[in-house]
Amino acid sequence: MPNKKQDDIYRQAYGLLCDYIDKHQLRHTAERMTILASICALQRFSVDDLRYSLTGITISRATVYNALSIMEKAGIVHRLEKDFGKRAAQYEIMFLKTSSVKIICQKCGRISEVKDSTIQRMLEDKNFTNFNQERFSLYIYGHCKVCRRKQLSKN
Ligand SMILES: [Zn+2]
Repeated sequence: MPNKKQDDIYRQAYGLLCDYIDKHQLRHTAERMTILASICALQRFSVDDLRYSLTGITISRATVYNALSIMEKAGIVHRLEKDFGKRAAQYEIMFLKTSSVKIICQKCGRISEVKDSTIQRMLEDKNFTNFNQERFSLYIYGHCKVCRRKQLSKN
């Protein structure tokens, strides 16, 4: 069962998607609604994460990309970076309430979330001129242990 926070996200995203679909005279397809529900449950994801989450139904890669493009234009998700290493682009719901700190290997593209209260507090307490912070997504780039070891054994 989705929790209250996910419910709010879904309601907001559903409203945005319906507005966009109506405005552009697109169709309310079952696939788009299924993808929307998955996106709201995942919150931060790659195209592969999204495809794996769509169990029990077959939705082509093209349909997933097409739906993501609509959701981007409708202001539901945004793409964080064009490409993280060999992995596909990462997407995130626009109106999340929670912040996150992630480390990304530039070589293999592995992404892990880190819990660091020092960074968390430092950024939350930061005041910006003429800007109210609501949340943050921080990405730290470098090389993971596996890639570092591979590099060392080559030398
Ligand atoms: Zn790596």
